Amino acid sequence: MSPPHLHWTGTGLSHQGMVRTSNQDAFAVDNDQGLWIVADGMGGYTGGQVASALATTAILAHLQTVSLPATQETDQHAHVTGTLSQAIATAKTAIQDRIAKEPELRNMGTTVVTAWLLPHPIPSMAIAHVGDSRAYRIRGRQLEPITTDHSLVQQLVAEGHITPDQAHDHPKRNVITRALGLAFPSIPDVTIHPLEPEDIFLLCTDGLTKMLSEQDILTVILDSIKTPEKACQHLIDRTNTAGGLDNTTALLITPSHPTTS
Ligand code: CA
Repeated sequence: MSPPHLHWTGTGLSHQGMVRTSNQDAFAVDNDQGLWIVADGMGGYTGGQVASALATTAILAHLQTVSLPATQETDQHAHVTGTLSQAIATAKTAIQDRIAKEPELRNMGTTVVTAWLLPHPIPSMAIAHVGDSRAYRIRGRQLEPITTDHSLVQQLVAEGHITPDQAHDHPKRNVITRALGLAFPSIPDVTIHPLEPEDIFLLCTDGLTKMLSEQDILTVILDSIKTPEKACQHLIDRTNTAGGLDNTTALLITPSHPTTS
């Protein structure tokens, strides 16, 4: 059976929010190659913007040059993990090189979450992330987190010290344990998700997930899903209405093949 002709298109939007004076988030979209990236920079007024821009640019450039061999399914995970890890290592190197030239940027760093559409052998979405920028999948009108934050509160939840509800309001909820920067480990987690034709993915920064509940995020997306740019705008609007304490980026990846519903 030949694989169905399935296509997905990404639409992203970023906003500085209601409190911050600059936007240190960045995102990148290559719908032709099925590549989507969101990054959340940190480390001073200039540094965060530089780090997130360097990371999205480097990861996109790296993945645009690789072509996946038609490997067997059993080989795919190792190959994809290796390729995405290389792309993220390239981004870390770009940040380190910039710090070597401009030492005043030494505290800069960034999270990153990348989605990569793999057409073969089974149409799948590979997700790699470092830090607390997230990927969600919407399937059957349910929002499922498919990344686990590299953060202190996530670690405390995993070890049973606090509940997920306590994590949401925890004073140290902004402390991340991995990032692309000098002071952090930068190893990504990579997962591969076989696609169903109606699957939707959301990549976002913590500016969204700390201001809105997952139920609110799902409701806003489903209300406008036929026009993803409006759905992104509504997510930003809702976040800013809720206070907009941080920069917010939302990138929706939606089916652009003829739907079966
Ligand atoms: Ca943020």
